[in-house]
Amino acid sequence: MHELSLMEAVREQALEQASRHGAGRIVAITLRIGSLAGVEPEALRFAFTVVMADTMAEGARLVIEAVPAVCFCSPCGQPFPAPGGNCECPRCGAISLELLQGRELELRSLEVEEGSGQPVVVSESSAEDFP
Ligand SMILES: [Zn+2]
Repeated sequence: MHELSLMEAVREQALEQASRHGAGRIVAITLRIGSLAGVEPEALRFAFTVVMADTMAEGARLVIEAVPAVCFCSPCGQPFPAPGGNCECPRCGAISLELLQGRELELRSLEVEEGSGQPVVVSESSAEDFP
């Protein structure tokens, strides 16, 4: 299952960040998921539970931030929404090859508990795509 290997990558990244911040426990994980990323939120939630079991992220909340697909039309110089990945400009009918967003699959932020039990939000400024 694609979602399972994806979640394993999320787990690696989340655990690494959490330990870098001296966290004792991960309380919540927020992911940005583009509408064209090709993953099912339901399958992601299932994979999350499976993959996070027996780690410091066991029982953490999974927050999914949906990112709608948006293309850019250069003749019009305008971005336009592209539900379903259909990048045909609604103004001039040109097929755009520039997808501005919609394929995101990234770790947005972590909420962790430090050894003291204080909740802290850890945000990654430079978001990178998962392999
Ligand atoms: Zn156009």
